[in-house]
Amino acid sequence: LFDFKIILGKNGVPVAENFRLEQSTIADMLQAGQVRVRTLYLSVDPYMRCRMNEDTGSDYLQPWQLSEVADGGGIGVVEESKHDNLAKGDFVTSFNWPWQTVAILDGSLLQKLVPQLVNGRLSYFLGAAGITGLTALLGIKEKGHVTAGANQTMVVSGAAGACGSLAGQIGRLEGCSKVVGIAGTDEKCSILVQEMGFDAAINYKKGNVAEQLRELCPGGVDVYFDNVGGDISDTVISQMNQDSHIILCGQISQYNKDVPYPPPLPPDTEKIQKERNITRERFLVLNYMDKQEASVLQLCQWIQEGKLKVRETVVEGLSNIGAAFQSMMNGGNIGKQIVLVSQ
Ligand code: NAP
Repeated sequence: LFDFKIILGKNGVPVAENFRLEQSTIADMLQAGQVRVRTLYLSVDPYMRCRMNEDTGSDYLQPWQLSEVADGGGIGVVEESKHDNLAKGDFVTSFNWPWQTVAILDGSLLQKLVPQLVNGRLSYFLGAAGITGLTALLGIKEKGHVTAGANQTMVVSGAAGACGSLAGQIGRLEGCSKVVGIAGTDEKCSILVQEMGFDAAINYKKGNVAEQLRELCPGGVDVYFDNVGGDISDTVISQMNQDSHIILCGQISQYNKDVPYPPPLPPDTEKIQKERNITRERFLVLNYMDKQEASVLQLCQWIQEGKLKVRETVVEGLSNIGAAFQSMMNGGNIGKQIVLVSQ
């Protein structure tokens, strides 16, 4: 058994060395209601940066404890069961999966997965058919005010990431007439346009974002799916139309800084937001879990129909999970960053 224990300070940029790998043993015997699982896939996500602080800034997120096993989204296979509804061979998932190769878990806290829904691509349940897909879909449905036929232009920041790459495609499926992405490399931008059906994409690390956005969106921006915050978002907001809408999904550019969430807008940007009556309500996918089942089915249907293109960046081995987290925070991923623990 290998697990990760955190050795992190309070603020700053997370690095692979914040985690260490240890070998330990698990109990031989299961208690009633427990299952022994082998971990297949683990997810690394931006919110984990907040769990590395003593104060996560959110009441729904518990801080990871120093020298305790970290946890997050995970998928595994049941190897032994003392739970009535779970049998050997079942695939299961949890939002609080321990970063271990093998674990004994309370069966009642696990959700059973149906691999056929994702054409056998189980890891999609951590991405396009999991919390990430739900975030993109429900963010757009609940906060985007997208109306088919209304000729709306959507801009997505963090567009080549897990949420962003889906959000742009879903914006189109829901009826936006133009979708423009903002991402950190030329390769990402070309994938967005050639594979994911974005009309255009801007590499924010090259050239002038404001100028390019003005050229690409001469009619202004109606819906902004914001994954990043900071300067990029100030630029987009300055080109948003009257009565337009921000989907406040995340602010990754601010996560290594000691600021509250959501970070307040700078005064000039706030002035524009107020004057133009631009909505910017906090969005948290966990508040919409009553819509989970129907929404996952919708996402799976789009995946099966080929209407939603899915990208993953897969790193192999539990020993590389810290590096995978660091890489994702630095833009090393295209689509969902996944850690393959065992086959
Ligand atoms: P992701 O986009 O797959 O990965 C993070 C990406 O952020 C990187 O690939 C990188 O791409 C970009 N990035 C990193 N630092 C940046 C910076 N300073 N400026 C601009 N871009 C930067 O991660 P994800 O899981 O899909 O999450 C995306 C956002 O959604 C995050 O803000 C996350 O907190 C949020 N989220 C919110 C909810 C919710 O319920 N509201 C749920 C899930 C996720 P580049 O190469 O483009 O820089």
